[in-house]
Amino acid sequence: MELIIFIDDTDSATSEKGTGAIAEELMELVKVKYFAETTYVTRHQFLIHPDIPYTSHNSSMGFECTVPDDTDMESLKADLIAHIKSESAPESDPGLCIADKAEMDADLLVSFGKECKRRVMTKAQAYETAEAAHVFLTETGGTGDGVIGALGGVGLRYWGNDGTLKGKPKHLDDECVHKVEELTKNPLIDVVLDKEGNILNPDEQVYLEKKPKVSLINHKLTIIVDKKDDNGIWQIMEKNKARWLGGDLIFKEGCPDFTPDVEEERISEDRSCYNCLYRRWLENGILCQKQ
Ligand code: SF4
Repeated sequence: MELIIFIDDTDSATSEKGTGAIAEELMELVKVKYFAETTYVTRHQFLIHPDIPYTSHNSSMGFECTVPDDTDMESLKADLIAHIKSESAPESDPGLCIADKAEMDADLLVSFGKECKRRVMTKAQAYETAEAAHVFLTETGGTGDGVIGALGGVGLRYWGNDGTLKGKPKHLDDECVHKVEELTKNPLIDVVLDKEGNILNPDEQVYLEKKPKVSLINHKLTIIVDKKDDNGIWQIMEKNKARWLGGDLIFKEGCPDFTPDVEEERISEDRSCYNCLYRRWLENGILCQKQ
């Protein structure tokens, strides 16, 4: 069985353990106790808006894994819930989502994940979507609002064009120059792209900064480079720009509700959120006001 497991809202402003650390512990738990083949944890950023409570970034964390077909899923769920309850901050509002890829309605989940990046979604909408999409969704404390991000995270991870790797690729020296072929030998880097989406040649050189961000693009762990310096060496794109690439893709997609804004407010002629009557610019993205 191929599963996607996501959590959200497990920490507080003062807690020592973040949601990413708990997600890694859950991944280790399913690996050791349920013989899962595991992957890596990604972080997915949602809308930052005054109506949405969040600790620091309003992002959820999770991973994909494969467990044997005869896995006792009730036991696995109970173990994950128990771990989240014991490790999350007392004042947090945790949510957990577990999706079986063979059973779930992927389109519904991807669409929900994308909506979480441009609209304020509710807990009721999350539970309705989870039921319709045949996934397990539960809250484990507080207001339980973390179910929204947990469900959205599953959708975005499945979509494969959003989010960044938690942490940095291991066993790779940073603050130095590497050839592309060296980078892609690392199990946590699949490809190096320029910002137009072109794949760099194996012998191109990239300066790897401290804690380089690796983004999930087209289901591949991707380093995005920006421009060459005077020595012809590529620089990694700024963390925030890379983080928002998935968001940008979503905003560029637009939707069936697209309505062109007045001419002086449009930035181009495409049918994207950027040019839509219903979008409001926020510091960290776009809010859609069409409900
Ligand atoms: S801003 Fe416009 S195009 Fe974007 S999601 Fe809202 S209605 Fe659709």
